[in-house]
Amino acid sequence: MNERASVVIIGGGIIGTAIAFYLCKNGMNDVVVLEKNYLSSGATGRCGGGIRQQWSERMNIRLAMRSVKLFENFEEDVGMDIEYYQGGYLLLAYTDEEVGFFEKNVKMQQEEGLDVRILTKQEIERMFPFMNSEGVKLATYCPTDGHANPHLATFAYARAAERMGAKIYTHTEATGIDVANGQIIGVQTSKSYIKTSVVINAAGGYSREVGLMAGVELPTESYRHQIFVTEPLEHILDPLVISFENNFYIRQTKSGNFIMGQGDKDEPPSHNHNPSWRFLKEMTQKMPKFFPFLEDVRVLKHWAGLYNMSPDAQPIIDKADNVQDFYFAVGFSGHGFMLAPAVGEALAEWIVYGKPKKVDISNLKIDRFAKGVSREKNVV
Ligand SMILES: Cc1cc2nc3c(=O)[nH]c(=O)nc-3n(C[C@H](O)[C@H](O)[C@H](O)COP(=O)(O)OP(=O)(O)OC[C@H]3O[C@@H](n4cnc5c(N)ncnc54)[C@H](O)[C@@H]3O)c2cc1C
Repeated sequence: MNERASVVIIGGGIIGTAIAFYLCKNGMNDVVVLEKNYLSSGATGRCGGGIRQQWSERMNIRLAMRSVKLFENFEEDVGMDIEYYQGGYLLLAYTDEEVGFFEKNVKMQQEEGLDVRILTKQEIERMFPFMNSEGVKLATYCPTDGHANPHLATFAYARAAERMGAKIYTHTEATGIDVANGQIIGVQTSKSYIKTSVVINAAGGYSREVGLMAGVELPTESYRHQIFVTEPLEHILDPLVISFENNFYIRQTKSGNFIMGQGDKDEPPSHNHNPSWRFLKEMTQKMPKFFPFLEDVRVLKHWAGLYNMSPDAQPIIDKADNVQDFYFAVGFSGHGFMLAPAVGEALAEWIVYGKPKKVDISNLKIDRFAKGVSREKNVV
């Protein structure tokens, strides 16, 4: 079977489906999404679902703030309840260095128009009495941060795009991108050949491999990140809580389960998805010290997914200069779920109108790495 599409998107995670949705919404309905497994089978379906605007780099703050606006209207715009909940994010500072860094960040976030404030230790204890605040110096708190269900969000975008005419092919792998004289001719898949002149790489942890299919080298690398979920308890935790110093994040889902994870600075780049005993042991020993009510709570499920890292821990949203109309939205570095609405909207507007209308994403171009970059530091 041979077919033709105006745009082929490689990757059926939150990024690929958000782009498909916004392309269709802007009138470009002849879109195909290729997903080698099932929708949200990659990092999206394995992520914490956190949506935070408290970043240390302005570009991340702007994209996240625009995304929150879109998440706030998601059900109406996209047509599905995705368990979106604005319970805030609480970032805990344990050291003097963190205090200085958080104060600087809050000033910048407020300059960007974000409703974020510093909480004293007494305020933290009053607002969150179930948490052990020993050693905490202060926290930053943004009440409009929150979380949502990443599976539902991906399916919502995909189904809405389909209703507008997009075709979503799951269990269909892109195996090659044909390029002649710097122009895309088509995409070979495990099932068919699709003629197209525009391809978007939204392949998450496989962004580098998909880039190479078109002869485009992307500076992204993938790293395993692990996470687990407990049995449900009655609702107690409104905000998603993060400590960079103690290396954890934790949130409670709508159904009461606690989801939590940590980073691992010794993790080598790979596509390894296997959960490890070490992670489970470290986390189950560490977390009850901060949240004593977790002491006797059972772990239900533990899994791993990939952070697709860029050199400055900020996404790369651009098109290739050696292959015409080969776009990429990659390197989300552990925060792609929350940025997806704004990124999907911006990339679709770029393709349809020649430039993004709501958020200027020119700082996210790939040539920034040659000029020198400032790294996003608020990453677990
Ligand atoms: C443990 C963990 C916790 C996280 N927590 C958060 C969080 O709280 N908040 C947040 O914002 N982000 C979080 N993230 C990051 C977030 O999950 C990602 O940044 C985001 O999901 C990236 O979306 P994506 O669509 O680019 O990638 P993916 O969801 O990985 O989608 C890419 C898809 O492309 C498919 N694919 C790859 N190659 C091909 C091919 N050749 N042909 C067809 N299909 C292909 C893959 O199967 C995959 O489904 C977390 C990630 C992990 C691992």
